[in-house]
Amino acid sequence: MKKSLSFLLFLLITGVLYYSCQSSTTENETGSADHIKQVTAGIDNAALINADANQGDWLSHGRNYQEDRYSKLDQISKENVGSLDLAWAKELGISKGLQATPIVVDGIMFFSGPFNQVWAFDARTGKQIWYLDPQFNHDKNIDLCCGFTNRGLAVYKGNLYMGMLDGRLLSIDAATGDINWDVLTIPENSTYSITGAPRIVKGNVIIGNGGAEIGARGYVTAYDAESGKQQWRFYTVPGDPNKPYEHPDLEEAAKTWSGNEYWKQGGGGTAWDAMAYDPDLDLLYIGVGNGAHWDREWRSPGGGDNLYLSSIVALNPNDGSYVWHYQTTPGDSWDYTATQHLVLADMEIAGKERKVIMQAPKNGYFYVIDRTNGEYISANNFVYQNWTTGMDENGRPIEAEGARYLDGKSHWIAPSSHGGHNWPPMSYNHETGLVYIPTAKQSEPFVRTKSANDPGALGGGFNANVSLNNKLYWPAEMDANPEAPIPMTQSGRLVAWNPVTQEEAWGIDQVGIYNGGLLSTSTGLLMQGDAQGMFSIRDASNGDVLRQFDLRSGIVGSPITYLVDGEQYITILVGWGGYMAKLHKHVPRIHQGTIYTFKLNGDGAFPEKLPPHEQPLTTIRDGAGPEQIGNGFNVFSRFCISCHGLPGTGHTSTPDLARSTNSIFENYNEIIIKGTLKELGMPAMEGLITEDEITDLKSYIFYSAKAVEEGMDPTAYLTSVAEMQYAADQAALIKD
Ligand code: CA
Repeated sequence: MKKSLSFLLFLLITGVLYYSCQSSTTENETGSADHIKQVTAGIDNAALINADANQGDWLSHGRNYQEDRYSKLDQISKENVGSLDLAWAKELGISKGLQATPIVVDGIMFFSGPFNQVWAFDARTGKQIWYLDPQFNHDKNIDLCCGFTNRGLAVYKGNLYMGMLDGRLLSIDAATGDINWDVLTIPENSTYSITGAPRIVKGNVIIGNGGAEIGARGYVTAYDAESGKQQWRFYTVPGDPNKPYEHPDLEEAAKTWSGNEYWKQGGGGTAWDAMAYDPDLDLLYIGVGNGAHWDREWRSPGGGDNLYLSSIVALNPNDGSYVWHYQTTPGDSWDYTATQHLVLADMEIAGKERKVIMQAPKNGYFYVIDRTNGEYISANNFVYQNWTTGMDENGRPIEAEGARYLDGKSHWIAPSSHGGHNWPPMSYNHETGLVYIPTAKQSEPFVRTKSANDPGALGGGFNANVSLNNKLYWPAEMDANPEAPIPMTQSGRLVAWNPVTQEEAWGIDQVGIYNGGLLSTSTGLLMQGDAQGMFSIRDASNGDVLRQFDLRSGIVGSPITYLVDGEQYITILVGWGGYMAKLHKHVPRIHQGTIYTFKLNGDGAFPEKLPPHEQPLTTIRDGAGPEQIGNGFNVFSRFCISCHGLPGTGHTSTPDLARSTNSIFENYNEIIIKGTLKELGMPAMEGLITEDEITDLKSYIFYSAKAVEEGMDPTAYLTSVAEMQYAADQAALIKD
């Protein structure tokens, strides 16, 4: 709860300036602590249940408990959206990604940043009211699979709630930014992290966590919002079978696992993003993540569905007990999480009114499930997929031959582990009846590893550290279908999906695989920011662009709309970051994190768009031989590629390692082993990597810089690297 002195001074000065400008002398001036306290204190259970009766605020992550991200505010329409313009923008002085959906109560906006910073802004003026840096513990850098990020806050009875990357859950006074309490939601010294937004249900704060790839056993926990006291915990997968089950249904779940060893690796099943709540049925829905290891044979030899991996699970929110589940990917072997956005809606299907829950999980199928009992209604693939040949009548996927890659060959599977759809939220529009999905097109090679403990290999442990040579010199089974995404390529598509007929109404191809979440309105508008930095407001009926703004950096946040003193506003956070943002960029230059707010006839000034800037390639050369470079690439594949991408391709949301300065290379050992740059996000790797390995790593980076400098063809470069890595692997085998 430390704030810097300079920041307090800043608050004091801006506060004085602010008040001196006010002519009104009412008791609760807008933006004052008393005003914020008053308006947020009213956010109770009834307010959250009736969020649709209060279209002016944005009270929770998905706007309402149904999480439909649909607004009935109608001032901004197809007819007048041409005069939509910037009201104000504010640069936040931070790098890394801004994935959060802001919360708005009576024109006071709250949002979170990549290192769990929290801001309160007056949406009327764009003035910052308070700022909190809760001091994320950077020793956790090493445990984060997917970058520094936070997807949002919850508000309840005067307080805000946030899960932190280091596993803490905070209660924050909405009026002042002071921390009321914090609880550690994960075991001490464990590898879990939190990126998702908490949800408030019946006075409890519900929070999950992530980290399946690094050896976690998934669970969600409910804490009393007032006291922070733990109320219940639901484990998504069974634990050590020699110990008693934490809850009775885990005994049933354990029957779908085999080998009595899965619990040593945690099993996976982290619930790191989606939740929804139906107050009438009094059911809380959670989306459960993938298995760890990815390859089922390493965690559950001989098979098994491995409940409740990759499932939608309905819980009783009063005690966290199991009610029903629907498993989207039985016996997951592809990182096909079902943590993606869950949307509740009522709709007529085949002449019957149904209460449904909808999801487009990573596995590429759009599901419509009866949310009263978990009964399968329908599913169809919303992107190209080749891991099944279809769905049986009970909604169980019919697996394609070879999909489980057990034959020792590499199989190019679609969707990739990134998923046909990842966390960026969808929007369900009650007028058009369509669900808008930010989808991704990519295939990925899956291949068995030599052992479960082979950390640098596909299908093994931490698969983000994929060994590129596996992709290149393994005999590959390719997909001959012309619709199949070509290996090593990636792109996106905004899909408007009809959930009743289970088919695409319209779609628009996008350059990037990783685009922002969606918002739609009753006036037929559909809004999204994309990887190319464009914030587009489209016609929800056909996708035509009606208004567009260039916001400088790739966008992964989700827009919101709300009223301020009776006038409709739209806000979006812009900051490039997250797993795919570490590997790619689609703008000439990534700018600092910025918040943008729009209204009709706004007259705000856009922040300056800076010219492209790229540090030069390093000119250091060390004359290393193929085995050393190949070994360096092995080191790079295990420790560096998942954050930095290939050297020489340019800075993304992380630095390009072939463009480091000489002094960085001179201090490599301290930076990598001791973590001297940990405040910037670089993990300390003491005990994980040796100085000899760092020497080889540098050789590989220098080789890559030379290849780029000389204009080497990318395929020739990858082939040469794979050959050198193969040589290094063969030499290591001979030594063994
Ligand atoms: Ca995963």
